Amino acid sequence: MNMCRKVVKQSQTEAIAAKLATLLKPGDVVCLSGDLGAGKTTFTKALGKAMGIRENITSPTFNLVQEYDGDVPLYHFDVYRLLKPSEFRDLGAEEYFSGAGVCVIEWANLVKEYLPERHLWIEIKWLDASRREICITPSETFGNTLVKELGIT
Ligand code: ADP
Ligand code: MG
Repeated sequence: MNMCRKVVKQSQTEAIAAKLATLLKPGDVVCLSGDLGAGKTTFTKALGKAMGIRENITSPTFNLVQEYDGDVPLYHFDVYRLLKPSEFRDLGAEEYFSGAGVCVIEWANLVKEYLPERHLWIEIKWLDASRREICITPSETFGNTLVKELGIT
């Protein structure tokens, strides 16, 4: 599938997330990967804001998943502190995937075996203090349309 890749400053990371918010539909699953400090939460905050979420979005470190009410609900996962991947399944991840909201999963690479086949994968790589490389790859069933509409290449 098509992949788009771009070097971005923080304002661009946030602009991509805000544009993505206008394109996502209920049931869409966005997988975020990248090291600590790459910008996964920064991306999610900008996405949520553009989804009309008024609450401050923080890392759901202790809950694993935090639900936010917006125009469409946002289910924000951070699975960094899971002891084993199966805990992700056991917390009912499947129900969130088929729920009325958009799912965003930080550290999705840690729970690969429990992710839905249809997803959008966004990897953020640290380049230097102010620049990141963002790679966006839709799964085969997700299709290319959204990535084309994002138009970041
Ligand atoms: P993660 O959730 O991946 O651990 P955070 O979003 O919590 O990372 O932290 C990313 C940090 O990097 C923030 O302090 C943010 O201000 C900073 N930053 C600097 N440049 C960028 C950029 N180009 N894109 C995203 N965040 C950036
Ligand atoms: Mg984070």
